[in-house]
Amino acid sequence: MSERPLEFVCHACQSRVAARDEPFACPRRGEDDADHVLEKRFPATFDGGFERVVDPTRNNPFLRYRRLLTSYAIVDDDARFVELVTRLDDAVASVDGGGFRVSPLATETALGNALGRRAALWVKDETHNVAGSHKARHLMGILLYLEALGVAREHPLAIASCGNAALAAAVVARAARRPLSVYLPPSASPTVLDRLRALDARIEICPRFPGTSGDPCYHGFQRALREGAIPFCCTGPDNALTIEGGETLGFELAEGMRTRGVPHHLLIQVGGGALASAVTQALFRAHRWGWIEQPPKIDPVQTRGAWPLPRAFERVVELLAASGDDRGSASDALEAIVRRRSSWMWAWEDEPQSIAHGILDDETYDGWQTILGTLRSGGRPLIVEESDLHSAYQLAQLNTTIRASHTGVAGLAGLLALEREQALRRDETVCLLFTGIER
Ligand SMILES: [Zn+2]
Repeated sequence: MSERPLEFVCHACQSRVAARDEPFACPRRGEDDADHVLEKRFPATFDGGFERVVDPTRNNPFLRYRRLLTSYAIVDDDARFVELVTRLDDAVASVDGGGFRVSPLATETALGNALGRRAALWVKDETHNVAGSHKARHLMGILLYLEALGVAREHPLAIASCGNAALAAAVVARAARRPLSVYLPPSASPTVLDRLRALDARIEICPRFPGTSGDPCYHGFQRALREGAIPFCCTGPDNALTIEGGETLGFELAEGMRTRGVPHHLLIQVGGGALASAVTQALFRAHRWGWIEQPPKIDPVQTRGAWPLPRAFERVVELLAASGDDRGSASDALEAIVRRRSSWMWAWEDEPQSIAHGILDDETYDGWQTILGTLRSGGRPLIVEESDLHSAYQLAQLNTTIRASHTGVAGLAGLLALEREQALRRDETVCLLFTGIER
């Protein structure tokens, strides 16, 4: 057991929650201004050696990296865990047409050429993931935990989302025959609503009322949690296990970097921030465990329509500078800053608008780890214009076979912004994630 991840620790208040005690939200969340988020901690004795933890014979990420999962530690029996994942994956495939597979990472030569890039441009394609985006990865992390722990099937699940996360949650919940409530904005597309109904999800439409701050869907979701629902969501502060599921994508990237070399930049589009947080944490873990020499520069991308993360990054940098020049005290200063969340993160003041509507979250709920990863890797947050998003979409359509949405190609829009600012050398390698399929 000493080799298993068994404990979750809040990065703000250091509260500890054992793996079996539902490490969803920090027990002290809401008590004060701290950014309470539980994070998985591996025991100090855990060495994470690549050959010991990765099972290269498996193409299902939840089997390939199973030795890193909390659910695996709880089941504590390799054959039984493999059986559990296989059974759930078969059920997901019967609902959605395919199960979980390592998503492809490829050099996109034509796209690189179209951009006049001399160095390699890689794209990791999430559009063929379960439910057409990376979101299902996050949710499968939670589902495996619930199944491993034996949480009663009737226990209701809840999520707030504008599209892809809701679809992913509905597919995964349906596969496990668990009831799900989805909190959606009135702008949700009829296609999404039809699919959710077909998957038996309970739909709650949450209009935005003038004078109220924050996302009304998120408020509805919080109400459901207070009434006892399980957070089946893509927001780490509500459920730490959603980050664990998303980390599988980061481990896949780390494996790709092991064989191809680490790219100079990894551009990640950020909405609520769970994907960026999960990928960042996975890459830093992979670095600590010796899988890769160093993490790439993490460059998170948001749109001009709403950029709470770049704003928060700027605030954290200012607060760090104000705390003094002593480099040794930087970690103390960061510890103080994470306990004063409202000094760097707050809801975007206006209703966010952009063609990349999948990353228009009012707040970056999972902002902190992305900010830390950006700082520590030497990256920087990028704000893209609507024209960048349109250009990126066209470039992807013309020069790749991937049919990603405007949100899905927002990382490519970030690359266009970097190019425009001449902030990238021609010989710097870049990795992008195409995250969601066009519907
Ligand atoms: Zn806490």
